[in-house]
Amino acid sequence: MNIPKVLDTVVNNDLCIGCCLCVYACPSKALKMEWNEYGFLIPTLSGTCDSNGDCLQVCPFNPFPEKEVSTENELGDIYLTTAPSHHPQIGKYNAIYAGHSNEFRLTSSSGGIGTYIFTKLLSNGIVDYVFSVKESTKPGSHYEYAVSSSKEELLQASKTRYFPVTLSEVMSKIKSLDGRIAIVGVACFIKAVRLAQYKELTLKAKIPFLVGIICGGVKSKSFAEYLASKAGIEKQNMQTPQFRIKDYESTAGDYSFGCIDKSINEKKTIKMRTVGDMWGTGLFKANACDFCDDVTTELADISLGDAWLPPYNKDGKGTNVIVTRSTIADKLIQDGNENGELTIETLPLERFLASQQGSFNHRHTGLSVRIKKNNPYLLKDLAMQK
Ligand SMILES: Cc1cc2nc3c(=O)[nH]c(=O)nc-3n(C[C@H](O)[C@H](O)[C@H](O)COP(=O)(O)OP(=O)(O)OC[C@H]3O[C@@H](n4cnc5c(N)ncnc54)[C@H](O)[C@@H]3O)c2cc1C
Repeated sequence: MNIPKVLDTVVNNDLCIGCCLCVYACPSKALKMEWNEYGFLIPTLSGTCDSNGDCLQVCPFNPFPEKEVSTENELGDIYLTTAPSHHPQIGKYNAIYAGHSNEFRLTSSSGGIGTYIFTKLLSNGIVDYVFSVKESTKPGSHYEYAVSSSKEELLQASKTRYFPVTLSEVMSKIKSLDGRIAIVGVACFIKAVRLAQYKELTLKAKIPFLVGIICGGVKSKSFAEYLASKAGIEKQNMQTPQFRIKDYESTAGDYSFGCIDKSINEKKTIKMRTVGDMWGTGLFKANACDFCDDVTTELADISLGDAWLPPYNKDGKGTNVIVTRSTIADKLIQDGNENGELTIETLPLERFLASQQGSFNHRHTGLSVRIKKNNPYLLKDLAMQK
């Protein structure tokens, strides 16, 4: 029996992030997404593999990529052709800002620029649909990617979900959707979409805009269950977990986790600062994230993160850091600032770097140590398969 290359090379070495582009690219439909025992979504064999290797070509953790698309630098040269500047730590870019959307700030996780950009992409006719993350009705799956085409639907998809999601279901609809699509994703998902665009040329026009979510690591399903247990809720009773409940009277970092205990229909919350350092320790984080060096979502048209630096972090209402990487993205931000829909200021490069310093330390400075320490076996294994 043929084993799909992505399973052999990536999934079996615990380097899969669950984006599902391999499922989309497989011509024989031999893969499907399933939950693994650690609370992550991964592809598994569900049909007969024809061994053509398409699955590996679109994988963001493919250790043997084609030379033309081997890193974010090559892909950036192909897809971000209008960006005038380049920095080794953040890739190609137009400009860097900090700020918020005056309309969406309070209903979003940081400054609401994510939701703002999507509403503008729809209202300006740049895209017809958005693939973003909404509440799921599937048992055990609290959030999932879904298709939106109105402002009301986009509002349901606001806020950060520290929960595993996969593009599997929305990508399976892509050919039947008549129109253009914008997709939001963390760095590895955005890279997978770029690799799919490289492989299937029509996807470039079909997906003209990507919103990158700056990511410090993808958490397992157990993260939400652990936080619910700390709030006094058993995992089977957890409903609608909310990962970033703001405290307007406090600092931006002083947010809470909350969810409904469906056994008594009561909402419970817990301040995140009471459960310890969930980010610096890397608890509940996917192993693949320890082998990713794309801190700022280098291949998106616009990258959005939290402004974890003063004075912005003192404001519990939330503020974004913003990196524009295409003319259209930069124009949306500039126009929003001029017409008063956004409150934006230019952020010096060094200050932006400082806002993600922890992630740069871990994923740029620390990566070579992890590769040397953890990967000799993996590298030997992979060399044999090559
Ligand atoms: C797993 C994860 C880790 C993060 N780590 C960092 C970090 O280390 N540093 C940092 O500065 N920022 C980080 N962020 C980003 C930050 O939390 C905000 O999502 C970002 O600043 C955008 O805020 P906003 O108010 O503009 O977005 P909103 O207006 O609230 O919109 C958020 C958008 O993100 C989408 N979304 C929500 N969850 C996911 C998901 N899991 N995968 C893909 N899309 C999703 C929503 O559907 C929506 O379109 C992380 C986000 C995630 C999901």
